Amino acid sequence: MKQTDSKKLFKQALNVIPGGVNSPVRACRSVGIDPVFIDHAFGCFVYDVDGNRYIDYVGSWGPMILGHRHPQVIKAISTVLERGTSFGAPTDLEIELAEMVIAAIPSMEMIRMVNSGTEATMSAIRLARGFTGRDRIIKFDGCYHGHADTLLVQAGSGVATLGIPGSPGVPESFVAHTLSLPYNDIETIQKVMGEQGEKIACIIVEPVAGNMGLVAPVDGFLNTLRELTEKTGSLLIFDEVMTGFRVAYGGAQSLYGISPDISTLGKIIGGGLPVGAYGGRRDVMEHIAPQGPVYQAGTLSGNPVAMAAGIATLKEIRQPGFYDALDEKSERLTAGLRSRAEQIGIEITVDRVGSMAGLFFTGSEVKNFEDAKKSDLEMFSAYYRGMLQRGIYLAPSQFEALFVSSAHNNEYIDQTIRAAAEVFAEIKG
Ligand SMILES: *Cc1c(COP(=O)(O)O)cnc(C)c1O
Repeated sequence: MKQTDSKKLFKQALNVIPGGVNSPVRACRSVGIDPVFIDHAFGCFVYDVDGNRYIDYVGSWGPMILGHRHPQVIKAISTVLERGTSFGAPTDLEIELAEMVIAAIPSMEMIRMVNSGTEATMSAIRLARGFTGRDRIIKFDGCYHGHADTLLVQAGSGVATLGIPGSPGVPESFVAHTLSLPYNDIETIQKVMGEQGEKIACIIVEPVAGNMGLVAPVDGFLNTLRELTEKTGSLLIFDEVMTGFRVAYGGAQSLYGISPDISTLGKIIGGGLPVGAYGGRRDVMEHIAPQGPVYQAGTLSGNPVAMAAGIATLKEIRQPGFYDALDEKSERLTAGLRSRAEQIGIEITVDRVGSMAGLFFTGSEVKNFEDAKKSDLEMFSAYYRGMLQRGIYLAPSQFEALFVSSAHNNEYIDQTIRAAAEVFAEIKG
């Protein structure tokens, strides 16, 4: 497979962009290659600058649930461009998207648009602290909530890939109020909340963890968080930046039947443009400026082009049967991977919630970050490279999920399974 132009561009990029990438997760260091530069994308495919076509399971890290360049999304963006690109003043589009989100996720009674998932979680934490008058927060090891200072503790995603616990540049005093506990560990959270629940502003959690690979919540875990926060007057924040509109139209909270106090969104609600949002209980959201004293602002927040892309995306995915079809395809993929690995005699653990899935190279169950780290990373690297060579584009890290879009069809899913079987056999040797 030719990658001359990608290599040339990467060399050029390294000179002007740290690591040659604008987000560390795009670097392919942990899998031992240089990143592929993308020229364009369509449907379930991305095309690199070297002329190769790949079946895409990254989907821009989650947003592209309709695949690339969905005609309705492109049309909505083109139409709104005739009105302008940014006004810094309210528009009808912000209300339309807000109303759609609130209809989909009833725990969000009011919503504020921002520009990224990071901004959403950072603002949600500030709001929880402002509302409760408490400083301390709880998160879980291996969950990633964006790169805000207070949340970069035992984080997943790129932080996990780099194998670092936190980040230089974050003063210890900034994270002194952040407690990170093991995911899915009901006993530990009960103990900690029993001891210091009255001091906790909020618990923030990925209701389905997608930033340490894919780790589903065990029975009772999310319910326990809801009960404990209710009892102690802390707020429960579901970080649904990845899971919102991904695992179901109503997000993970609709799957598990839990109403958090605040939810954060991103990725899919922007339809491929930069959008984040946070929202929740009306009495809590009314603490946000200018209605309340908790300050949060944004020059480009609620940007009309981004709102139009989000609205068009939501209109497509709320069609009856959309998620059932996506679920079926995703199950075909994960079942296929599992059965091929078994035939070949490679120990893997595959988990899936809706169209999010993860594959670990370990035979034992993965319930938390410690378990995830037991995956054989050498095997993952070999798997990644083998798949890329066969035209399958995966996230270049063990600690990321894969995403199926409505543009993937059975033919391409079967092609993916065949490629994986070849690579499994190669790894097995
Ligand atoms: C991607 C992600 C974020 C951060 O969103 P950005 O738009 O990259 O800032 C936060 N939380 C979760 C759960 C995510 O998956």
